[in-house]
Amino acid sequence: MWAELLPVGRSSASGGYRRYAWTGADADCRAWFRQQAEARGLAYEVDRNGNQWAWLGDPAAGNAVVTGSHLDSVPDGGAFDGPLGVVSAFAALDELRGRGARLTRPLGIVNFGDEEGARFGLACVGSRLTAGALTVEQAHRLTDGDGVTLPQAMEAAGYDPEGIGPDPERLARIGAFVELHVEQGRALDLSGDRVGIASAIWPHGRWRFDFRGEANHAGTTRLADRRDPMPSYAETVLAARREAELAGAVATFGKIAVEPNGVNAIPSLVRGWLDSRAADQASLDTVVTAIEKAAREYAAAHGVDLTVERESFTPVVEFDHALRDELALILSSDTELRVPVLGTGAGHDAGILSGRVPTAMLFVRNPTGVSHSPAEHATEDDCVAGVSALADVLEGLART
Ligand SMILES: [Zn+2]
Repeated sequence: MWAELLPVGRSSASGGYRRYAWTGADADCRAWFRQQAEARGLAYEVDRNGNQWAWLGDPAAGNAVVTGSHLDSVPDGGAFDGPLGVVSAFAALDELRGRGARLTRPLGIVNFGDEEGARFGLACVGSRLTAGALTVEQAHRLTDGDGVTLPQAMEAAGYDPEGIGPDPERLARIGAFVELHVEQGRALDLSGDRVGIASAIWPHGRWRFDFRGEANHAGTTRLADRRDPMPSYAETVLAARREAELAGAVATFGKIAVEPNGVNAIPSLVRGWLDSRAADQASLDTVVTAIEKAAREYAAAHGVDLTVERESFTPVVEFDHALRDELALILSSDTELRVPVLGTGAGHDAGILSGRVPTAMLFVRNPTGVSHSPAEHATEDDCVAGVSALADVLEGLART
């Protein structure tokens, strides 16, 4: 399965993946998923929001155990974030069949669409729509860098966008959702464990900072006469770093747009996107408030106008405690495997679904912690341990 997925959407220049929602690379990933489902004799379907499902047993029976993740990527992402959960899901099913496991609940494998939000700027669009965490009106307003809206992109990819929106009937069939994911930090590496169980996802959000000044000639405009938004943006980036350190949080300006974007032109606009996350809501509020306050002071000092808009926000997600305990109990039967419980600063479809269905996550060790980069990695041994743990969990859950 890895060998087939590896070349899809891979940039030869960076070695990273560019699998954006509703593009050709996304279509290739989706074709692969369908092929895997059909090769195993699973019932394949695409829901109204473009998420792909593969079923063993009849989902209409309800109380289904579902596993899976996503196949799309961030710009120049790694091979594991997302695909590891989907590949492991199919591999775990193969393992269960090999064991001759008897499952009394329907088993589903899912590929959620547009998890990373690389194209339309909002993460987890497929699961948000399904869970009703993104309204149809909001979805219609999502636009990519070329001005293409989400419905237009879906249509161009051969999907009917008419039916997008909440899908409570589908969610009602799911008794438990377990997402396996490569760890996006070094907790497991530091503790020396192959596999972990998620406790919670930190609250996180994205804010857009627009610093507006005045375009002018870089050679002839006296420094004193400038309304240059770039220095105040730069100072804000430094403030974000400082405030995050103070609060034990993280804050990142990872995307910037400059107008007119000329080497010899003072910018008229610097637009920067802040991504910030913290272990609890109060810390996150403290960090973002402090960054915005600093940004306003810098902007005022440079005669620059500043607007700050929150583009998305996801509150803290505590995964279902009963399901988490059940996973821990199932995995404790393997005395070779110690499975710590850990929090994460990364968002996931499992977090979006957690308000609607009992949800849990398994993490597989990432020896460097690097993610959202071509250097993202997990060893084959650890991936196999992840598949085996997932198979144990699915078997344990599907017998109860
Ligand atoms: Zn992911």
